[in-house]
Amino acid sequence: MRMKRNTRVNHPPQVNVPPDNRALVAPIYQSVKFSFDDVQQTERHLRGEREGFFYSRTSNPTLRQLELLLAELQGREACLLTGSGVATIAASLLSLCRSGDHILAFAESYGPTRYIVQHLLAKYGVAHTLLSIEDTAGIERVLTATPTRVVIFESPTNPVTKIADIEHLTAHAKAAGALTVMDNTFAGFHNHGHLPVDIFLHSLTKFASGHSDVMGGAIIASKQLIAQMTKDVVSIGPTLDPHAAFLIQRGMRTYFLRYERQCVTAMAISRMLEADARVARVFYPGLASHPQHALAKQQMSDFGAVVSFELNGGYGESDRFANALKFFSMAASLGSAESLVMPARLLGGLDLPAALRATAWMTPGLVRMSIGIEDEEDLIADLKSALNEIAPTG
Ligand SMILES: *Cc1c(COP(=O)(O)O)cnc(C)c1O
Repeated sequence: MRMKRNTRVNHPPQVNVPPDNRALVAPIYQSVKFSFDDVQQTERHLRGEREGFFYSRTSNPTLRQLELLLAELQGREACLLTGSGVATIAASLLSLCRSGDHILAFAESYGPTRYIVQHLLAKYGVAHTLLSIEDTAGIERVLTATPTRVVIFESPTNPVTKIADIEHLTAHAKAAGALTVMDNTFAGFHNHGHLPVDIFLHSLTKFASGHSDVMGGAIIASKQLIAQMTKDVVSIGPTLDPHAAFLIQRGMRTYFLRYERQCVTAMAISRMLEADARVARVFYPGLASHPQHALAKQQMSDFGAVVSFELNGGYGESDRFANALKFFSMAASLGSAESLVMPARLLGGLDLPAALRATAWMTPGLVRMSIGIEDEEDLIADLKSALNEIAPTG
């Protein structure tokens, strides 16, 4: 049918790629809507009787490719993407819990996770207990005494890389009928999948994208759990944009190269710092001196990119040290190609009661670094020169 130009711009020529002629990189389906040929096919799709896509808040082919990849890497059946890491936490907990339920959470958790549990869900009548992730006796006690819907935890924890005993935690949660939700952002998709965790959450903003230019989140679990949560999560509307999904998919191509390199350099930096008399303590699960090194080795295939440490002389020294670094950008977040540094006291936790704050090891002079993919010698030279600047006699 002939159309005028102002109609044509809204019905542009179709380009169909033959089925035996594929784009090596999947195109970005930057389309909110997907149409079928007729009402009957549309209705069949909406009834779940045929494949396809309808509206991008619910699903989109660019997102689907990333969902399939991430579920497979984490060793689970299904994945649901969101527009940020925190959206996975809020949406999954809102979906799993109802008024009167109880959540077991930990002082060492990411700040917004604690906020969601302690403030947001509390408004809807969801109760919680906050323990230290090291308090295994407390975990057993709470799970035995209090009917619990969800246990939400992280490992390694931020900023002092404590290691959760995942077998202990999941066994006691299972016995008590509680679901385990693990924020696995620090350890990555290639870690912890062999352990019986029910739901994995990831901030794709970190190692997955890797380039500090896009945000996203992933909920990864069995088909059954994802199906149970999908309607709730989608209805809240934390949709990931297809272009962001494409950038994350591209980031994933170098995920293993980056992660492996970051781990090797983090190990070298940890050893260098540990050997320096001006450094009081170093926290890295790969170090034999880490109090849970054996547990980390048993649970993980590598130890991540986050290294924290304290200088002799505390907090003023730590600030001067962080300021003196050249190749470490002073910024929040982690897991990016560039190295980052941050005094840990600026990362939150100020709201914790003193006792839990002390257990979480958030001492005022703690410095947290996220190791990037720069040259190891350059990073080590930079760290040494910053140490010399603050304590030339060391
Ligand atoms: C960054 C982070 C999040 C939140 O992710 P965003 O993508 O920034 O919303 C959640 N958990 C952990 C452990 C994180 O490091």
